[in-house]
Amino acid sequence: NSISNDVLKDQLKKTFGFDQFRGEQEHIIQNTLAGNHSFVLMPTGAGKSLCYQLPAIVMEGTAIVISPLIALMKNQVDQMLAFGINAQFLNSSLTRVEINKVKTEILAGKVKLLYIAPESLNKQDNLSFLKQANISFVAIDEAHCISEWGHDFRPEYRKIKSIIEEVNPKLPIIALTATATPKVQQDIQKTLGLEDAKVFKSSFNRKNLYYEIRSKHEVDKQLIRYIKSHTGKAGIIYCLSRKKVEDVADLLLVNGINALPYHAGLDPQIRINNQEAFLNEEVDVMVATIAFGMGIDKPDVRFVIHYDAPKSLEGYYQETGRAGRDGLDGTCILFFDHDDIEKLDKFNKNKGVSEKENAKILLAEMEDFANLGICRRRQLLHYFGEYLGENCGFCDNCQHPTQSFKAEEEAVWVLKT
Ligand code: ADP
Ligand code: MG
Repeated sequence: NSISNDVLKDQLKKTFGFDQFRGEQEHIIQNTLAGNHSFVLMPTGAGKSLCYQLPAIVMEGTAIVISPLIALMKNQVDQMLAFGINAQFLNSSLTRVEINKVKTEILAGKVKLLYIAPESLNKQDNLSFLKQANISFVAIDEAHCISEWGHDFRPEYRKIKSIIEEVNPKLPIIALTATATPKVQQDIQKTLGLEDAKVFKSSFNRKNLYYEIRSKHEVDKQLIRYIKSHTGKAGIIYCLSRKKVEDVADLLLVNGINALPYHAGLDPQIRINNQEAFLNEEVDVMVATIAFGMGIDKPDVRFVIHYDAPKSLEGYYQETGRAGRDGLDGTCILFFDHDDIEKLDKFNKNKGVSEKENAKILLAEMEDFANLGICRRRQLLHYFGEYLGENCGFCDNCQHPTQSFKAEEEAVWVLKT
């Protein structure tokens, strides 16, 4: 079942317009073509989608892509259609008639990729349909959604394993995620029965991202000044609450900045419109809660600004990771104030004892990261179990060391870790 490297490379050029595979893409694709399971851990922007899109094109039948968000599916289906590849989705946004049309096309063998939400996968009529279809393999994107330790837990992801088994237990599976914490990785492999999968893990160092932490003093002024000095550049501003998102979007608008809000409280159609406006470059700045961004492929986001502190370093890493996906420089600014940590801590007061303890640890790690004078990248990578031998030279602490006790502080950090 092996397909020659030349054929893959030709397809890469023909369909996607790329000359080279990035990192392990080619090995990952070959592993699926050989009928094996794969577990792919790569940071945001590394090019995980291609690892299932390309084999789906060259293999016979339809590949199932399980994906957690309608916006994400639509984004990829649009991209594939633009490349001339027949991709479709099945989710709650479709009418009965539309669903039947998709199914007919699949049975006729015309569809290369079927994106499907885990909820839809659970439905009995979809399940019986998939049993009749010619399925090539199953991709599980954003696989960390399966884990309660992850940042986007979806209970329906837990059922994926048994559903695939019912459709066809022999199908090769490829699970992909940008989550790097070891706990989540183990959870994913166990829950999906992928203990024997070939694991492809690349470094989580995003070398083109500049990390900077600023005081929240006069944050609005700082924000406007920064954006105005980067006019025409695409950026995302993350705020903690929907209310704050609205306030900041208004603030930017009255200051002549082309910005739109995005949060889960907006009407779904407005949400879609705002997202498309951002993707299509009709608007420069998206002011959003963390509801925005997972899997969204906008390559030229030049800055990600955290107006409020994130709940964990993992969250911070994922959100900042949306900058610079094209490999060009991206700037990540976090406006930090201890009060934000207290606020976040209060949100946790109704949680169970162990969950509350976990959340506290995550917040303490976030605060340490913001306060320490040590190279941000070394801290961040260390959090993901990676060792960076030298200071990166491309973060605020490297370029503008401010703290006089850096050496001592570093000694303490090294001891602790
Ligand atoms: P991920 O899912 O890992 O976050 P994506 O699959 O969305 O990342 O890809 C990120 C960007 O990298 C996209 O714009 C994609 O077109 C681009 N890309 C993927 N593979 C290659 C490649 N081999 N050469 C050049 N660009 C690539
Ligand atoms: Mg992705």
